[in-house]
Amino acid sequence: MSADPVTETQLLRGAPVAAALRARSLASSSLLRDNLGVVPTLVTLHVGADPAALAYRGSIERSMAKAGVEHRGITLPPTTSAEGLIDAIAALNADPLVHGVLILMPMPPHLSLEIAAEHLDPMKDVDGVTPTNAGRLHLGLPALRPSTPQGGIELLDHYGIEIDGRDAVVIGRSNIVGKPMATLMTMRNATVTSCHRKTVDLAHHVSQAEVVAVAAGCPGLIRGDMLREGAVVIDFGINVIGDTIIGDVDAASVMGVAAAYTPVPGGTGPVTVMVLASNTIAAAFASLASPVEADRRPLAPSELDALS
Ligand code: ADP
Repeated sequence: MSADPVTETQLLRGAPVAAALRARSLASSSLLRDNLGVVPTLVTLHVGADPAALAYRGSIERSMAKAGVEHRGITLPPTTSAEGLIDAIAALNADPLVHGVLILMPMPPHLSLEIAAEHLDPMKDVDGVTPTNAGRLHLGLPALRPSTPQGGIELLDHYGIEIDGRDAVVIGRSNIVGKPMATLMTMRNATVTSCHRKTVDLAHHVSQAEVVAVAAGCPGLIRGDMLREGAVVIDFGINVIGDTIIGDVDAASVMGVAAAYTPVPGGTGPVTVMVLASNTIAAAFASLASPVEADRRPLAPSELDALS
């Protein structure tokens, strides 16, 4: 006989968060288009034909149109050399009509995001992958932030979930999700534990956390019986299993244990793409500043707000 659920689990859906971000982006992109003649433009660059990358591009394309951002997809053949990729990035860096560049993953094994990122103009780096933006983020300076973890923060803020002073665990330490998520929550005064593949007792760490953020690419990694009762669970996992997409959290088992959790699909995903749109608009605004004034840095979202 199972006990009654002790907690009513709130679903933190991404749609209303994305809608709020979209409204702000539309207002800013109209300002750019109508008053300054600038069409904020994002290029997604992909090498090869990976289905997950192309599915992500499809969702970016649909979302950008709704946020007033132009999208162009560029696909290079899977045989593209590192030099060929760097040349393509250099051409995008030099194109004044392109404000943001997102390199879609995964790439063929002979290429690496780290090498590509070394060559991307930090002013166009709308997913915060360049050493400049990653470094600036870690130093607490204005930067273009990685869209997925920034979306997780936007989601928590939208639903009024406190970060300050809470014990948080981040599972995964990738450069684009786990590591920046740990930094962003530290910046917001959470006490953060970073877990990864080599963590000895993941269940122990998770059981202590008030906020659990998971980006491990491992379906079902986090179960309700691992959680502290009343924890908030942010699931960044996107695992394609046959025709369905599931997260890193075993959704059924967290119901009645977690205070709140982000469903997959429909949780963090829609917010990620809207952060990408607002980063592209911020990059377009930053491109207008004179080289002297610009100080070679992109505007932070708070600075963008001050402009609009
Ligand atoms: P993503 O792009 O979603 O962040 P990556 O594949 O780049 O995913 O990184 C996966 C991260 O998840 C790595 O930091 C890895 O250590 C962590 N991870 C993967 N499997 C486990 C696991 N079973 N337990 C804890 N951490 C894990």
